[in-house]
Amino acid sequence: MPDATFTCPDLTTFCRLDELGLEVVGQRLDSDRAVLACRVVAPDQWCRRCGCQGSARDTVTRELAHEPLGWRPTTLAVTVRRYRCSGCGHVWRQDTSNAAEPRAKLSRRGLRWALEAIVVGHLTVARVAEGLGVSWNTANDAVLAEGKRMLIDDPSRFDAVTAIGVDEHVVRHEALLFRMEVRDLHRLAVVAAG
Ligand SMILES: [Zn+2]
Repeated sequence: MPDATFTCPDLTTFCRLDELGLEVVGQRLDSDRAVLACRVVAPDQWCRRCGCQGSARDTVTRELAHEPLGWRPTTLAVTVRRYRCSGCGHVWRQDTSNAAEPRAKLSRRGLRWALEAIVVGHLTVARVAEGLGVSWNTANDAVLAEGKRMLIDDPSRFDAVTAIGVDEHVVRHEALLFRMEVRDLHRLAVVAAG
Protein backbone atom coordinates (compact mmCIF):
# COMPACT_ATOMS: atom_id res chain seq x y z
CA MET A 1 0.00 0.00 0.00
CA PRO A 2 2.37 2.71 -1.20
CA ASP A 3 0.00 5.67 -0.67
CA ALA A 4 -1.54 4.62 2.62
CA THR A 5 -1.07 7.03 5.48
CA PHE A 6 -1.35 5.67 8.97
CA THR A 7 -1.87 7.57 12.16
CA CYS A 8 -1.34 6.28 15.69
CA PRO A 9 -3.94 3.76 16.81
CA ASP A 10 -6.53 5.56 18.87
CA LEU A 11 -9.60 3.98 20.42
CA THR A 12 -11.41 7.32 20.70
CA THR A 13 -11.36 8.03 16.97
CA PHE A 14 -11.70 4.34 16.02
CA CYS A 15 -15.00 4.22 17.91
CA ARG A 16 -15.91 7.67 16.55
CA LEU A 17 -16.28 9.00 20.07
CA ASP A 18 -14.49 12.23 19.17
CA GLU A 19 -17.63 13.07 17.16
CA LEU A 20 -19.60 12.74 20.40
CA GLY A 21 -17.30 14.96 22.45
CA LEU A 22 -15.96 11.99 24.40
CA GLU A 23 -12.53 10.51 25.02
CA VAL A 24 -11.86 6.91 25.98
CA VAL A 25 -9.91 6.56 29.22
CA GLY A 26 -10.29 2.83 29.86
CA GLN A 27 -11.61 -0.42 28.46
CA ARG A 28 -12.99 -3.66 29.82
CA LEU A 29 -13.35 -6.49 27.36
CA ASP A 30 -15.49 -9.50 28.17
CA SER A 31 -16.22 -12.27 25.68
CA ASP A 32 -19.75 -11.03 25.13
CA ARG A 33 -19.46 -7.29 25.73
CA ALA A 34 -17.06 -4.36 25.73
CA VAL A 35 -17.25 -1.42 28.12
CA LEU A 36 -15.39 1.79 27.32
CA ALA A 37 -14.85 4.24 30.16
CA CYS A 38 -15.12 7.75 28.74
CA ARG A 39 -14.79 11.31 29.90
CA VAL A 40 -16.51 14.38 28.48
CA VAL A 41 -13.83 16.44 26.73
CA ALA A 42 -15.30 19.95 26.99
CA PRO A 43 -15.38 21.51 30.45
CA ASP A 44 -18.68 23.09 31.41
CA GLN A 45 -17.83 25.09 34.51
CA TRP A 46 -19.74 28.32 33.86
CA CYS A 47 -23.09 28.68 35.61
CA ARG A 48 -26.05 28.74 33.24
CA ARG A 49 -27.97 31.01 35.62
CA CYS A 50 -25.53 33.70 36.75
CA GLY A 51 -22.36 33.13 34.70
CA CYS A 52 -20.10 32.62 37.71
CA GLN A 53 -17.58 29.83 37.71
CA GLY A 54 -18.62 26.59 39.33
CA SER A 55 -16.35 24.17 41.11
CA ALA A 56 -16.36 20.44 40.38
CA ARG A 57 -18.31 18.75 43.13
CA ASP A 58 -18.46 15.08 42.24
CA THR A 59 -19.11 12.84 39.26
CA VAL A 60 -21.89 10.58 38.07
CA THR A 61 -21.68 7.78 35.51
CA ARG A 62 -23.96 7.76 32.51
CA GLU A 63 -24.24 4.47 30.64
CA LEU A 64 -24.90 4.60 26.93
CA ALA A 65 -25.22 1.76 24.44
CA HIS A 66 -22.87 2.51 21.53
CA GLU A 67 -22.67 0.95 18.07
CA PRO A 68 -21.47 -2.65 18.42
CA LEU A 69 -17.91 -3.23 17.29
CA GLY A 70 -17.31 -6.65 15.82
CA TRP A 71 -20.85 -7.80 16.71
CA ARG A 72 -20.02 -7.34 20.38
CA PRO A 73 -22.25 -4.92 22.30
CA THR A 74 -20.23 -1.85 23.24
CA THR A 75 -21.32 0.16 26.25
CA LEU A 76 -19.97 3.58 27.17
CA ALA A 77 -19.54 4.36 30.85
CA VAL A 78 -19.30 8.13 30.70
CA THR A 79 -18.00 9.99 33.74
CA VAL A 80 -19.95 13.24 33.99
CA ARG A 81 -18.83 16.01 36.32
CA ARG A 82 -21.26 17.84 38.54
CA TYR A 83 -20.51 21.46 39.34
CA ARG A 84 -21.77 23.83 42.00
CA CYS A 85 -21.85 27.56 41.27
CA SER A 86 -19.69 29.70 43.54
CA GLY A 87 -22.17 32.57 43.14
CA CYS A 88 -25.72 31.27 43.33
CA GLY A 89 -25.25 27.66 44.45
CA HIS A 90 -26.85 26.21 41.32
CA VAL A 91 -25.78 22.62 40.61
CA TRP A 92 -25.53 21.21 37.13
CA ARG A 93 -24.08 18.33 35.18
CA GLN A 94 -21.52 18.61 32.45
CA ASP A 95 -23.23 18.89 29.07
CA THR A 96 -23.41 15.52 27.29
CA SER A 97 -25.80 16.55 24.54
CA ASN A 98 -23.19 15.85 21.85
CA ALA A 99 -23.03 12.26 23.03
CA ALA A 100 -26.73 11.50 23.39
CA GLU A 101 -30.18 13.01 23.68
CA PRO A 102 -31.18 13.94 27.24
CA ARG A 103 -32.11 10.83 29.24
CA ALA A 104 -31.36 8.62 26.22
CA LYS A 105 -29.89 5.17 26.78
CA LEU A 106 -28.19 5.05 23.39
CA SER A 107 -25.31 7.20 22.19
CA ARG A 108 -25.93 9.17 18.99
CA ARG A 109 -23.77 6.66 17.08
CA GLY A 110 -25.61 3.78 18.72
CA LEU A 111 -28.91 5.28 17.67
CA ARG A 112 -27.69 5.84 14.14
CA TRP A 113 -26.47 2.24 13.95
CA ALA A 114 -29.83 0.98 15.18
CA LEU A 115 -31.76 3.03 12.66
CA GLU A 116 -29.56 1.96 9.75
CA ALA A 117 -29.68 -1.66 10.89
CA ILE A 118 -33.48 -1.62 10.72
CA VAL A 119 -34.09 0.58 7.69
CA VAL A 120 -31.16 -0.42 5.48
CA GLY A 121 -30.07 -3.76 6.91
CA HIS A 122 -33.61 -5.00 7.66
CA LEU A 123 -32.57 -6.35 11.04
CA THR A 124 -35.34 -7.05 13.51
CA VAL A 125 -35.73 -4.92 16.61
CA ALA A 126 -34.82 -8.01 18.63
CA ARG A 127 -31.54 -8.35 16.74
CA VAL A 128 -30.80 -4.64 17.11
CA ALA A 129 -31.47 -4.84 20.85
CA GLU A 130 -29.11 -7.81 21.05
CA GLY A 131 -26.46 -5.91 19.12
CA LEU A 132 -26.71 -2.94 21.43
CA GLY A 133 -26.97 -4.98 24.61
CA VAL A 134 -30.25 -3.31 25.62
CA SER A 135 -33.84 -4.49 26.12
CA TRP A 136 -36.28 -4.83 23.24
CA ASN A 137 -38.32 -1.93 24.57
CA THR A 138 -35.28 0.34 24.89
CA ALA A 139 -34.22 -0.36 21.32
CA ASN A 140 -37.73 -0.05 19.93
CA ASP A 141 -38.51 3.21 21.74
CA ALA A 142 -35.20 4.76 20.68
CA VAL A 143 -35.55 3.75 17.04
CA LEU A 144 -39.13 4.96 16.73
CA ALA A 145 -38.32 8.30 18.38
CA GLU A 146 -35.22 8.86 16.26
CA GLY A 147 -36.89 7.70 13.07
CA LYS A 148 -39.69 10.14 13.71
CA ARG A 149 -37.30 12.96 14.54
CA MET A 150 -34.99 12.42 11.57
CA LEU A 151 -37.36 11.37 8.85
CA ILE A 152 -40.94 12.11 9.64
CA ASP A 153 -40.57 15.51 11.30
CA ASP A 154 -38.42 16.65 8.39
CA PRO A 155 -40.79 18.61 6.13
CA SER A 156 -38.46 18.20 3.16
CA ARG A 157 -38.62 14.41 3.35
CA PHE A 158 -40.60 14.10 0.15
CA ASP A 159 -38.27 16.40 -1.76
CA ALA A 160 -36.58 14.51 -4.57
CA VAL A 161 -38.61 11.40 -3.85
CA THR A 162 -39.34 9.78 -7.18
CA ALA A 163 -40.54 6.36 -6.16
CA ILE A 164 -42.29 5.24 -3.02
CA GLY A 165 -42.80 1.68 -1.88
CA VAL A 166 -45.06 0.47 0.90
CA ASP A 167 -43.79 -2.35 3.01
CA GLU A 168 -45.61 -4.03 5.84
CA HIS A 169 -43.74 -6.32 8.13
CA VAL A 170 -44.11 -7.89 11.52
CA VAL A 171 -42.29 -5.86 14.10
CA ARG A 172 -42.98 -8.15 17.01
CA HIS A 173 -44.11 -11.64 16.17
CA GLU A 174 -45.34 -12.64 19.60
CA ALA A 175 -47.54 -9.58 19.91
CA LEU A 176 -48.77 -9.75 16.30
CA LEU A 177 -47.91 -6.10 15.97
CA PHE A 178 -47.52 -4.85 12.44
CA ARG A 179 -45.92 -1.68 11.25
CA MET A 180 -46.40 -0.13 7.87
CA GLU A 181 -43.54 1.77 6.39
CA VAL A 182 -43.55 4.07 3.41
CA ARG A 183 -40.13 4.06 1.89
CA ASP A 184 -38.36 6.24 -0.54
CA LEU A 185 -36.93 3.48 -2.72
CA HIS A 186 -33.97 5.51 -3.88
CA ARG A 187 -32.74 6.81 -0.55
CA LEU A 188 -33.72 3.67 1.37
CA ALA A 189 -35.28 5.80 4.05
CA VAL A 190 -38.52 5.45 5.89
CA VAL A 191 -40.52 8.60 5.22
CA ALA A 192 -43.57 7.63 7.24
CA ALA A 193 -44.54 4.84 9.57
CA GLY A 194 -47.76 3.94 11.29
ZN1 LIG B 1 -24.68 30.72 39.42
